[in-house]
Amino acid sequence: HRHVDHATPEAVQATIDAGDFHPVIPDYEDLAACRAGGGYDVLTRLRAGGDWEEVQQVVSDSGLRGLGGAGFPAGKKWGFVRGYPGPRLMAVNGDEGEPGTFKDRFHLERQPHLFLEGMLISAWAVAAERIYIYMRDEYPAVLEILRREIAALEAAELIRPGDVILRRGAGAYICGEESAMIESIEGKRGLPRHRPPYVAQVGLFGRPTLVHNIETCHWVARVLREGPEILSAVERNGRRGLRSYSVSGRVARPGVHLLPAGSTIADIIEAAGGMAPGHVFKAYQPGGPSSGLLPASMSDVPLDFDTLQPHGSFIGSAAVVVLSEADSARDAALNMLRFFESESCGQCTPCRVGCEKAVKLMQADAWDAPLLEELGRAMVDASICGLGQAAPNPIRAVIKHFPEEVSGDQLR
Ligand code: NAD
Ligand code: SF4
Repeated sequence: HRHVDHATPEAVQATIDAGDFHPVIPDYEDLAACRAGGGYDVLTRLRAGGDWEEVQQVVSDSGLRGLGGAGFPAGKKWGFVRGYPGPRLMAVNGDEGEPGTFKDRFHLERQPHLFLEGMLISAWAVAAERIYIYMRDEYPAVLEILRREIAALEAAELIRPGDVILRRGAGAYICGEESAMIESIEGKRGLPRHRPPYVAQVGLFGRPTLVHNIETCHWVARVLREGPEILSAVERNGRRGLRSYSVSGRVARPGVHLLPAGSTIADIIEAAGGMAPGHVFKAYQPGGPSSGLLPASMSDVPLDFDTLQPHGSFIGSAAVVVLSEADSARDAALNMLRFFESESCGQCTPCRVGCEKAVKLMQADAWDAPLLEELGRAMVDASICGLGQAAPNPIRAVIKHFPEEVSGDQLR
């Protein structure tokens, strides 16, 4: 058995072709270690006679919000799903595709049972009969960990065979959009559906479905094991809770940094060991490419759900990418639009054609700002899902914060 780590694509392909690919499995907390520390005690107690509304209250008291990026209050979502007649299902979104986001992988490669217990508690709360985990195929080690640990849960009779089904995504960014994910689990092409109806009402196989992101489940378990105060008592800049910021780019120590919600980019860069040697801070992507770019002059804005709205941005899944004076904001924005162009599912014309047209317009030395703005408005107004609606954000950000880079005066 050969281990492939930092191999070339050709070497990886040759190994796969030879049927000999085994990902490197990191050290992680397995079921035995987790149970020795009290893991699954909460789930067992709840199943023996817990009141789901009491549990919902604890989760709501903690302030836990959906950590896939939209920040919808987790307890409120349980109430919606439970309010529709059963049978109900649960789908977990592990298709962590937002460029710069790797927090779910970070948590799963360390403590997969926090996620698994939180998932089972959430499924219990809404009385879901079956759970589908949609896991990104680009995380082979995580898939192997989940395969092993789901089998261990079955062997320990904490779940029955078939209660939890692990599905592999196939690399399409749009399949992380919850309704496209549901289509994909159903065996169809991953095309986002119109909402409403929300998946809480009409989800997987037409049933009321609870959709949670991996990290949301992780915190459900922690809140119920340790109390709602582990989140609600943490305060910074008037915001409450904790965020797993995925930090990359020109910092000394890229990685996942767990900080109080409401941390500023200055706090985050400090936690990441400062700027990489020789680099001067210029700009940052606060939460994935759909959040655009903000300039270094906005270093004191708390980065949390809602706080970036006045700046035409949002924190999303907290994928922070730090750019330095060595980087071009316009090139970064062009890269983001190329990504959206390639990942658009193509079912709405404003998104499919709009991304393609924007990429062409952005290659001009001087950007036609009014035309780009008009195009962006059509995309926002007439796209079905968040991809097309948010794709113009990087363009707007460059026009607003880095106009000198797109005026055509700059030597390039
Ligand atoms: P959304 O606000 O439309 O929905 C969030 C969740 O709340 C969904 O589960 C939705 O079904 C539910 N919901 C909202 N209103 C509801 C209602 N009235 N009744 C019942 N349920 C309701 O946001 P979204 O389009 O699902 O997500 C957008 C976010 O996803 C962006 O912020 C982006 O940052 C993030 N994102 C994350 C990744 C990643 O890899 N983690 C990838 C792409 C995008
Ligand atoms: Fe597909 Fe784009 Fe329309 Fe979303 S906005 S449904 S990605 S074409």
